[in-house]
Amino acid sequence: MTLYTTPAEPRLCVRCDTWVLRAHADGVDIRVDPVPLDAAAEEQAVAEGRSTYDAVFLTWPARTYLEYRDEHRRARPRDGPVLRAHRCPRTSPPTLF
Ligand SMILES: [Zn+2]
Repeated sequence: MTLYTTPAEPRLCVRCDTWVLRAHADGVDIRVDPVPLDAAAEEQAVAEGRSTYDAVFLTWPARTYLEYRDEHRRARPRDGPVLRAHRCPRTSPPTLF
């Protein structure tokens, strides 16, 4: 499956207030961390159950799109930055007393 998104835009995550790239595909809200992953970091992200995406840059009009990386894309040589789905950092549980 190849999943192309709308142009990705920088946004603040409404939950944890960090910068993410946000796009949509088929009505699905996609938020990724704007930090490129090396192969080991992508492998770890996939093991954690996080989707990864190729960041595809178009120069005119200047926009960035995300393409879902399925197992076939992950097996091919990379041709650009790879980003992982955003996951808000865990916070400590509240203390009651
Ligand atoms: Zn967040």
